[in-house]
Amino acid sequence: MEGKIKTLDCPVCGSHTGVGVLENTVLLNFPLYCSACRREHIINYIRGILDIRESFQSNRGESSDND
Ligand SMILES: [Zn+2]
Repeated sequence: MEGKIKTLDCPVCGSHTGVGVLENTVLLNFPLYCSACRREHIINYIRGILDIRESFQSNRGESSDND
């Protein structure tokens, strides 16, 4: 298996998100969280092209455990 995993950068600020993808990974309406923006970017990722569908304030990382 070839180690072709790359990590997605935040489409807005360019920070590392820590989300790994392969060359042929397809993501649809994937919530990509950026800890630098503290926002969720709903993205499509197809054939290496990242397309932002939506972006909103995230409550990830807050200490409340309501779920
Ligand atoms: Zn960001």
